[in-house]
Amino acid sequence: MPTDQQTFAIVGAGLAGAKAAQTLREEGFDGRLVLLGAESERPYERPPLSKDYLRGEVEREAAYVHEAGFYTEHEIELRVDESVVGLDAGRQELALKSGERLGYDRLLLATGSMPRRLSIPGAELDGIHYLRTFADSDALRSRLDAGARLVVIGAGWIGSEVAASARQRGVEVTIIAPHAVPFERVLGREVGAIYRDLHRDHGVEMLLGAAVGSFEGDGSVERVRTQDGHTVACDAVVVGIGATPRAVLAATAGLAVGNGVLVDGRLETSVPGIFAAGDVANHLHPALGRLRVEHWDNALHQGPAAARGMLGSDDPYTRTPYFYSDQYDVGMEYSGHAAGSDRVVFRGDPATREFVAFWLADGRVLAGMNVNVWDVTEAIQALIASGSQVDERRLADPDVPLTDLFHHATLGEASS
Ligand SMILES: Cc1cc2nc3c(=O)[nH]c(=O)nc-3n(C[C@H](O)[C@H](O)[C@H](O)COP(=O)(O)OP(=O)(O)OC[C@H]3O[C@@H](n4cnc5c(N)ncnc54)[C@H](O)[C@@H]3O)c2cc1C
Repeated sequence: MPTDQQTFAIVGAGLAGAKAAQTLREEGFDGRLVLLGAESERPYERPPLSKDYLRGEVEREAAYVHEAGFYTEHEIELRVDESVVGLDAGRQELALKSGERLGYDRLLLATGSMPRRLSIPGAELDGIHYLRTFADSDALRSRLDAGARLVVIGAGWIGSEVAASARQRGVEVTIIAPHAVPFERVLGREVGAIYRDLHRDHGVEMLLGAAVGSFEGDGSVERVRTQDGHTVACDAVVVGIGATPRAVLAATAGLAVGNGVLVDGRLETSVPGIFAAGDVANHLHPALGRLRVEHWDNALHQGPAAARGMLGSDDPYTRTPYFYSDQYDVGMEYSGHAAGSDRVVFRGDPATREFVAFWLADGRVLAGMNVNVWDVTEAIQALIASGSQVDERRLADPDVPLTDLFHHATLGEASS
């Protein structure tokens, strides 16, 4: 069937969905293109929701993926407030909340993820916040008056960023988290300790190695009680304990799922013609194996890659995972995947909060994190991709350009 008579549908009007729609038009798809979103907003980016937008420093407008007129201009039928409630993969048909049924020729699932929720006594009290949407960020911001007391449950990226933003607004903050240091699972103890100290230096109370037991209060949350009986008085709570992929549509339609929607190298699901991208996609990365990445860069690039797949491209998605975080005056970028690393090498002194950390296994760089050091991401990613054995002393030496090191490593290997 000629493409101008085809319908491509995208479920999920977030970053991955919006970028996929843009790419389909850029690559010449001239059929009907429907972008369906459960939220009442046009697609927007979420990173500002825990950072400058939460602090009230930027307007909503700054977070939108495209200008308001973009979708009409490109004949993209953006349907906001329209949840997809069913998928019949055999008939190639979607069931919409409004009762409409929409047939499709190719489908992209870009349904993202949602915050994992705590189900403990008091979980239903007012003042307990989760953070995923504009509305969540607005509601939380209204609690961040100077002098208010906020408890943050979880010391992952969202919890830590919210803690930093709240401190910047003069709020008293206590973080309660089960690990010994923030980001222990991703960064390990040594690097996580740098973030623990950063928050302490900014006056955050850290209750680490502690599990939350209950929320208490009369209608609204007034206290958090840990499992070992410690109580922290508060006016509001933010729970940031991770996210779960929104894979229910795929699962009930019989697509292969398992920690997200399982997709192959080119982001196609177990049902030909149906693709998945962004937070919801559990992708078979050609170099790194199965990965589900819940980060902005992944949504930004997987959306377009899936769009090209929908148009018949066989190219696999090969990008090195990347994310960034801003807390206080400390910005960082992380590239790679450190699972299986056996040591960390620092370039620069971590105590100055201006350094690069590298995670190595068998002398090869698996991941790198630049903290307040900029314009090195490309070189770090090239180093990772090269798989070269590196000289640790040169890796640690800020005077040796990373690109030199990579060339030397490659030449060294070639000549040995
Ligand atoms: C507060 C916050 C801060 C973040 N900060 C950073 C950061 O600093 N750096 C970083 O790298 N990453 C960050 N992230 C992660 C990043 O925002 C996500 O990885 C990215 O949003 C994923 O995009 P997505 O399009 O896959 O999913 P989403 O952005 O979740 O969009 C999916 C959309 O699909 C909709 N949807 C779901 N089911 C249906 C359905 N059945 N029918 C219709 N629509 C549906 C949802 O309502 C949602 O609008 C942050 C996330 C949050 C929440």
